[in-house]
Amino acid sequence: MVLADPTRATLTATDRQQAGQSSAAATGWSAADGAALYGLDRWGDPYFSVSESGHVMVQPRGDRGGSLDLVELVDELQGRNLGLPLLIRFDDILEDRLERLHGAFERAIAQYGYAGRYQGVFPVKCNQQRHVVEQLVESGRRWHFGLEAGSKAELLIALSLVDDPQALLICNGYKDQRYIETAILARRLGRQPVVVIEQSDEVERIIAASHALGAAPLIGIRAKLATRSTGRWGSSVGEKAKFGLSVPDLLATVEALREAGLLGELRLLHFHIGSQINDIAVLKDALQEAGQIYAELTRLGAPMGYLDVGGGLGIDYDGSRTATAASKNYSLQNYANDVVATVRECCDGADVAVPTLVSESGRALASHFSVLVFDVLGSGGLPGAVPAAVSDEALILRNLRETHAVISAIPADDAEAIGAGLERLQEAWNDALKFKDDALAAFRLGYLGLPERGLAEQLTWACCQGIAERLARLPAGLAIPQELQALPAALAATYYANLSVFRSAPDTWAIDQLFPVLPLQRLDEAPSRLGSFADLTCDSDGKLARFIDRGQVKTLLELHPLRAGEPYWIGLFLAGAYQEVMGNLHNLFGSTNAVHIRLAPGGGYRVDHVVRGDTNAEVLQAMEHDPQLLLERLRMASETAIAQGQLAIGDARRLMDHLETSLRQTTYLQAC
Ligand SMILES: *Cc1c(COP(=O)(O)O)cnc(C)c1O
Repeated sequence: MVLADPTRATLTATDRQQAGQSSAAATGWSAADGAALYGLDRWGDPYFSVSESGHVMVQPRGDRGGSLDLVELVDELQGRNLGLPLLIRFDDILEDRLERLHGAFERAIAQYGYAGRYQGVFPVKCNQQRHVVEQLVESGRRWHFGLEAGSKAELLIALSLVDDPQALLICNGYKDQRYIETAILARRLGRQPVVVIEQSDEVERIIAASHALGAAPLIGIRAKLATRSTGRWGSSVGEKAKFGLSVPDLLATVEALREAGLLGELRLLHFHIGSQINDIAVLKDALQEAGQIYAELTRLGAPMGYLDVGGGLGIDYDGSRTATAASKNYSLQNYANDVVATVRECCDGADVAVPTLVSESGRALASHFSVLVFDVLGSGGLPGAVPAAVSDEALILRNLRETHAVISAIPADDAEAIGAGLERLQEAWNDALKFKDDALAAFRLGYLGLPERGLAEQLTWACCQGIAERLARLPAGLAIPQELQALPAALAATYYANLSVFRSAPDTWAIDQLFPVLPLQRLDEAPSRLGSFADLTCDSDGKLARFIDRGQVKTLLELHPLRAGEPYWIGLFLAGAYQEVMGNLHNLFGSTNAVHIRLAPGGGYRVDHVVRGDTNAEVLQAMEHDPQLLLERLRMASETAIAQGQLAIGDARRLMDHLETSLRQTTYLQAC
């Protein structure tokens, strides 16, 4: 549907329309077209849609009614002095995801006559933010929803937030003696921590701690499955996996527990085949393998009772429903059905009671609820108007002007004339490129001045522009010469974004992850430009230049020309999992402002929590600088400058005001 990538063999009719600059009216573009273009109707369902007026709408409670206009919301939040970039967290979405997950398992359990239940936990590493974890614990109470911790700090969160004696606290990760003893003692607080043995040497520490305290923890074992997952996290399983016990180690561990009199506490089998499982077939294999191991552990005399299928439940970032990196070939219900049906099959076959099913779904719960909104500060790469000719212009410039005249001679609104002139357009394009190269060479050799070089570039732009405008009018199905297909990309613009991808979307940089990115407004207007985003950091990697494209990737996004005095807000969606904690302070851009929004009972919304972004003072302190000392040094320097007559007292005060204000403000560009 979308052009963008110049390596694509053909352009579709829509592509051509979008390559042109002024075809919006001619195409009869509607908000629905905007929704389709950016895939909102696929990945956004049921939480995000587009209004008639072309604004992104949020339905925080999914199908259960109530919606908010995201543009109005951002406007009103800005009115509350919450500047962009802004992370908006919709707690209703978080709750809805939780309901959907439980609903899916409840339906599967009913459908397959499963004689057990589902009891999930949230892997804290997915988003450790206080209000997020608190919300999940609160909303999950009715299902005895628990938490999974992978470190001592996460264990502290889990132990203190979950006070439901029936909820599970799954303790994963590397564990020292203190971690294990903490888990054992927490049982006396009425908590249910399950210490999952992930490394074979942990069993000795568990035995030692149990003897020392005269009490045992609930014990789980993580199996290293042979089933290989696909995609980015495929190496989370298999013989070389970082975590889990191989079958020989697993059997040895059972015997060690038996000898220590602790086999009676072995309750849970855990596996995790990596995040974002793209292909449901992989999950089925893993479930079968784990199901057999579970049955075997029961036969060996462990009481068991829980099978923890780990995380990995995927997100369809591009809405393509394919087994590709940014997607998955199954629904939440498919997933629950497979877990329930496969485990039942294994247990029935082995004649053991079915376990309580546990999943550690992080990404699937936490992705949808947060939306990152940033503003565009300006755009580059726009061809300007054709500069008027002056007398005795250099030959190269005259050549470029002639080329432009050839293009202009073909009427821009006459499809037939354009079709007939295709060959001339192609020739003009080749000429323009050649003359531009000539101009550069002449500049390097000193034959062409800087103003002339600038003129040559402007004229080349104008030629590109003229050709693109004409190609946009061609009817669908007409073959466009290969070279001309690269034109839209050549005309692509850079949109300067008030954000740091290293802070707010680190996985786009670190592991090439795709998130849906789109303007929040003007979706009822055909986007006439192609572009990508450059962020605020002084790092050429600081950009957003890979976009969802239904199972593929495109390097340019359809965008609108900026309008003077009017903001252009961009949303980055489905980024509630992993991004915040993985974000870093590169160039000292700190956390952004964040807000928690709830639908209000009578309509409208409520701002539940405001989490202010890091101030400049805070990021400086993180690097061990003392902001007051920095200020003091500058104050002294300005006193010296005043004494030397280089700085007026009024200017010194202005300088100090700016410095002090900056220290109090967030690290991003301020509207005022
Ligand atoms: C990271 C992790 C998870 C969460 O995985 P998602 O793909 O986000 O659901 C669950 N369990 C373990 C052991 C993990 O390491």
